[in-house]
Amino acid sequence: MKVHNTLSGKKEEFLPQGDEIKMYVCGVTPYDESHIGHAMSYIIFDVIHRYLKFRGYKVKYVQNVTDIDDKLIDRANRLGATVTELAEKFTARYFEDMDALNIERADIYPRATEEIPKIIEVVQGLIDKGYAYPAEGSVYFRVRQKEDYGKLSHRKLDSMMSGARIEPGKEKEDPMDFVVWKASKPGEPSWDSPWGPGRPGWHIECSAMSLKYLGETIDIHGGGQDLVFPHHENEIAQSESFTGKKPFVKYWLHNGLLQLGEEKMSKSLGNLVTIKDILAQSSADALRLFVLSSHYRSPLTYSDEGLAAAERGADRLRQAAGDTSGGGNKGNGIDVEAYHNRFVEAMDDDFNTAQAVACLFDLARDINRAEESGDYARQARETLKDLGGVLGLTLKPVEAAPLDAAQIAQVAASLYQELGRSTLSKEELAKDFFEHLARAGEELREAKEIIDDLIVMRKELRASKQWQQADMIRDKLSEAGIVLEDTSQGTVWKYHRGS
Ligand SMILES: [Zn+2]
Repeated sequence: MKVHNTLSGKKEEFLPQGDEIKMYVCGVTPYDESHIGHAMSYIIFDVIHRYLKFRGYKVKYVQNVTDIDDKLIDRANRLGATVTELAEKFTARYFEDMDALNIERADIYPRATEEIPKIIEVVQGLIDKGYAYPAEGSVYFRVRQKEDYGKLSHRKLDSMMSGARIEPGKEKEDPMDFVVWKASKPGEPSWDSPWGPGRPGWHIECSAMSLKYLGETIDIHGGGQDLVFPHHENEIAQSESFTGKKPFVKYWLHNGLLQLGEEKMSKSLGNLVTIKDILAQSSADALRLFVLSSHYRSPLTYSDEGLAAAERGADRLRQAAGDTSGGGNKGNGIDVEAYHNRFVEAMDDDFNTAQAVACLFDLARDINRAEESGDYARQARETLKDLGGVLGLTLKPVEAAPLDAAQIAQVAASLYQELGRSTLSKEELAKDFFEHLARAGEELREAKEIIDDLIVMRKELRASKQWQQADMIRDKLSEAGIVLEDTSQGTVWKYHRGS
């Protein structure tokens, strides 16, 4: 198995240190709804996590929650809430989103505010070794003390000076020094420390937590490419200086960033699409396919059309996966083992999910061909489900949002109004028809019953060649998201989410 390591800039043979893979992925700062950029990153690391387990590894997976931060303090102040209230609310929302995306939980989600003693221990250790210094209640990391600073982002300190956003602060020895402990301003949440009341810097949090839960050297550290510098560069500086051991991380994995149209996804743009927005109009499987159809290190451009195409793809896979509880097996000519091997080969090559997805579509096509010739190919369907599951695809039929009976009754009532103006040629039909419609509007009935009634009426209208009126029923239902399809077994209806 090969993985691309940001540290070396190359694909390397994946050789974990021990029996259990130690994996750390930077988590969220819960001050707002999670957006599609979060979805992309956490779907990717979920697939990596799932695939490692599929390959027989034991994995210990840690993801932090940055529940104290400037953004949280600012937003809490604006909303008149406490930082704790805000963090609790959006941490809960984050887990809701992750569950809805079928993202498996990490083993541990340490929260910054609950790890203060460990953080203080690391900060003190850095001071003791001369890597950090207190100044006016804060503590800074002495970047020039770490001779290989810049090795992850492949930059030299002096060239960084010009490009980097440097935090102002007169008390720093060097403008590139970064804060590891931040003195608190009056009214801000704070913890006692040897340097006065304050709170941890963002970077030290990840160093302390990975050390506490995963040890001095971990196998995989993940995050978005926007975290390479300064966040991950600073994590390396802190962790390696504190422990005196290298490397802090064997394999650094970074996903490409999500773009909205031409603009880079950025929290400052204000044009964010939340995960809840996306899942209101498409399934988690579709979003996963959309993300996984590109290589994780490439940038991904979000578009509604792209997501709609992914939903159609998800439908094809769902249909092919079908029901494996019944149905006979033959699967003549479908070499499931070859598909399995092809999938593994793709994923072993730096998690090439695009090729793995292509493999699933080819398998689905073979299943459909087999079915056309009367061969249920149950084993092939099971293989499709299993391999899809490694990518976190459920391939379960989409459960539409519950039908709104009041809305459907309203459709019937408006048809009653409009069709009343047309002349119905057959008196008997007309009487029946209007009775049906009136009932639909007046009685509290299940939406499904009303739709079934309307389908019966449409059939009668068509039988008496009143095409225009029949079409009106179809069109009104379609506006309400109910799509009628005429099949050889009669008319069936489908409810389309988001329409
Ligand atoms: Zn981090």
